[in-house]
Amino acid sequence: MAGLEEYRPIVGEGVVAELRLLGERLTGRSILNVNSTRVGGGVAEILNRLVPLLQEVGLDARWDVIRGPQEFFDLTKRLHNALHGKHDIFTAQDREIFNHATEQNLASLDLGADIVFIHDPQPVGLIRAKRDLSNKWIWRCHIDVSAPAHGAWEFIAPTVEKYDLTVFSAPQFSRELPIPEVLIAPSIDPLSDKNRELRGSEIEQVLKRIGVRSDKPIVTQVSRFDRFKDPLGVIDAFRLARERVDCQLILAGGGATDDPEGAQVLKEVRERAADDNDIHIVDLPPTSNVEINAIQRASTVVIQKSLKEGFGLTVSEALWKGKPVIAGAVGGIPLQITHKYSGILTHTVEGTAFWIKMLLSAPEFAAKLGENGREHVRNNFLLTRHMRDYMLAFLYLERPHESVVEL
Ligand code: UDP
Repeated sequence: MAGLEEYRPIVGEGVVAELRLLGERLTGRSILNVNSTRVGGGVAEILNRLVPLLQEVGLDARWDVIRGPQEFFDLTKRLHNALHGKHDIFTAQDREIFNHATEQNLASLDLGADIVFIHDPQPVGLIRAKRDLSNKWIWRCHIDVSAPAHGAWEFIAPTVEKYDLTVFSAPQFSRELPIPEVLIAPSIDPLSDKNRELRGSEIEQVLKRIGVRSDKPIVTQVSRFDRFKDPLGVIDAFRLARERVDCQLILAGGGATDDPEGAQVLKEVRERAADDNDIHIVDLPPTSNVEINAIQRASTVVIQKSLKEGFGLTVSEALWKGKPVIAGAVGGIPLQITHKYSGILTHTVEGTAFWIKMLLSAPEFAAKLGENGREHVRNNFLLTRHMRDYMLAFLYLERPHESVVEL
């Protein structure tokens, strides 16, 4: 696994040196991360890389996961959806299921660390151990809780308020709380299979496997088949653009087999595409990191035409590969794209079509957008910045009244 030195050519001497200095300030501090899964999802992906890097700079970092019966995870899945706004009702029995699993995990986990760093709602109840341990506790919310269904936020709020610090991904995802809050954006790992440099032959192989020609411009959207990602709108925009400029479209995504709505959306996408030879619909299994990397790298223009979005990691992934990105101006996307500087923000099918035509006919402008986007991601959305922000949060907990950290 890549060590910190391997990030030096990517982020520069100063960033790596600063991480080491922050590490010195925190040497030996024990940090325990707790979430609910070792594999799958962005949280696990980030912890997988972050924990060894924190250890490398001198922290005693650990990562543990909570366990629970199926009924607990069914409940937390409902809670997750309700925090995103889906209507639900939480009963006293739900509360009991939640508390029971929390008690069992309290009995089996070793929570004796200087800082306990809890990720997302499932393990939030572990804060109960703070009373006896008198250590510091952080709750990191990775989801958008700005418009929850009635009763969902209330289910966890009294527990969240017992923490010393909360972390949200973006201002618009957060809630007003009586405890300190910090904003730390997500990140991508430039050395992971999803984002590392690929050889031309690796890219060619993937294109060949999915039946895409490399002699015609490629317009791509990588996303779960979800209505909020508007794949039908992408097809319509592509067709309008193709009336003027010859090009082909890749719609790549997964999540369709275990998600009934995903399967339905995929079906509608196939119907809309009909027998159009320029439209390639690629249904990807969950571990397709190299494939996604290759598809993004092979693209002339990348689209993320979301109608509603969390952060939108696919945007940073494409910008990091120097691609001109056309994306919906929703959720965390405007944090990643400044219109006409580091990408294009659109609101409609027609606007998306206009900019596809424009970027395919103005390759120099398109290349400039990609270049600026890549620098923006380098400065703001790589794993090293995430690590730095976490260490600053740890220092803040030790000295909440210091506004300057002397290194
Ligand atoms: N992704 C994937 N397989 C797919 C579709 C998406 O691995 O079939 C990845 C994508 O590369 C990105 C993440 O899943 O890393 C999606 O994150 P994003 O924030 O863009 O959207 P979300 O799916 O969380 O709404």
